[in-house]
Amino acid sequence: MKYENTLEFAKQQDIIDPLKGYRSKFYFPMMHGREAVYLTGNSLGLQPKATQDYVLNELEDWATFGVEGHFHARKPWLSYHEQFAEPVAKIVGAKPDEIVVMNQLTVNLHLLMVSFYRPSKVRYKILCEAKAFPSDQYALESQVKFHGYDPKDAIIEVAPREGEYCIRHEDILEAIEKNKNSIALIMIGGVNYYNGQVFDMKAITEAGHKAGAIVGFDLAHAAGNLKLQLHNWNVDFACWCTYKYLNSGPGSVGGVFIHQHNLNKPDTARFAGWWGHDKASRFKMEKSFVPMPTAEAWQMSNAPVLSMAAHSAAVDMFDEVGMDALVTKAEMLTGYLEFIIDEINKTQDSIRKTQDTSDKKQDGFLEIITPRDKKQRGCQISIVAHGRGKDLFNKLTQAGVIADWREPNVIRCAPVPLYNSFEDVFRFGEILKSAL
Ligand SMILES: *Cc1c(COP(=O)(O)O)cnc(C)c1O
Repeated sequence: MKYENTLEFAKQQDIIDPLKGYRSKFYFPMMHGREAVYLTGNSLGLQPKATQDYVLNELEDWATFGVEGHFHARKPWLSYHEQFAEPVAKIVGAKPDEIVVMNQLTVNLHLLMVSFYRPSKVRYKILCEAKAFPSDQYALESQVKFHGYDPKDAIIEVAPREGEYCIRHEDILEAIEKNKNSIALIMIGGVNYYNGQVFDMKAITEAGHKAGAIVGFDLAHAAGNLKLQLHNWNVDFACWCTYKYLNSGPGSVGGVFIHQHNLNKPDTARFAGWWGHDKASRFKMEKSFVPMPTAEAWQMSNAPVLSMAAHSAAVDMFDEVGMDALVTKAEMLTGYLEFIIDEINKTQDSIRKTQDTSDKKQDGFLEIITPRDKKQRGCQISIVAHGRGKDLFNKLTQAGVIADWREPNVIRCAPVPLYNSFEDVFRFGEILKSAL
């Protein structure tokens, strides 16, 4: 696609965008009397306007029926979570049996590790990416310690090479090969939250299985962002939050995938609760846990209906749009952001003709640290603003941009295909240019 750094071009793209109707289905925060340029859907997705009705319906049914809402609510609460299996399976490329929506991300990561991190004296290590999201690091460390191992020995982190921002795929495969006799679990974020790098989950799963390890992914930045095929890739398990790309509200209920090959196994270790018990006999309230034959076996508590109502509003929208359309637009929109940033660098170079332009680290240069290859990124671009500090970011904020700042000088921007426009990206570019 040939991009142009003009408002006319951006507006024209918005007119022909098949998803253009979705922007108005969301609330945008207002800044200085107009809609903010919201580029933080990777942190907290915007609120669909429909969400209020979904939540209000449950409040009404609660008021009307009290406890009987478990049976008589418009969507009976007893089986409320079951509505998610099919549409969520489509979002992450799974079979409905492999999906359960429950708890929150870090809690689910722990529960899944109870089942799938079963270290032995020889095979006890966990391989992960260096600088994983802190909550994941804490979860892995505490699991390792819980089993009596030393994180310094038991956690293998694959890091980018000296002077690079992204981890090389071959380095991950090499680390798996090198530790093939001692790795119990490979647990990586499908998309790195910091630089937006997408890992080759299919190849990592294959290599992990060949090495005799279990392979799981944290998909916090991948669910609703990438076209995933968790079932076909043979991933053992995955979990994600629903408040980032999935627009289900702050701290909303999390999602879990457990591959069919791990279901319905009597010997699986798990922390159990009544909502994981076989549905037919759940309310006999008898001793001895009989697990559901699906991913629901991991569910412990009854459904948190109010946060699930918000999730339901978002999932219905995703079901209507489909991941194919989202990913198609995401590639164009993210490509546009990349183009605009490159353009800004060019004009900056021309301003400083007298300086040495071969030095990419010069003051004000915007270095994209997200992979340039479309297959290795979703809709996030992370930029290092060389020589600039927080004041650059403050200027962006003052001018109406909501993006994400990471010390010392990284700006993370996520143009989300469901509600962001080409004009948003153009406006961001103009604001960034004048802030520099
Ligand atoms: C957002 C995010 C989390 C947050 O975990 P919660 O349990 O939902 O608070 C954890 N891990 C990753 C990789 C994330 O991106």
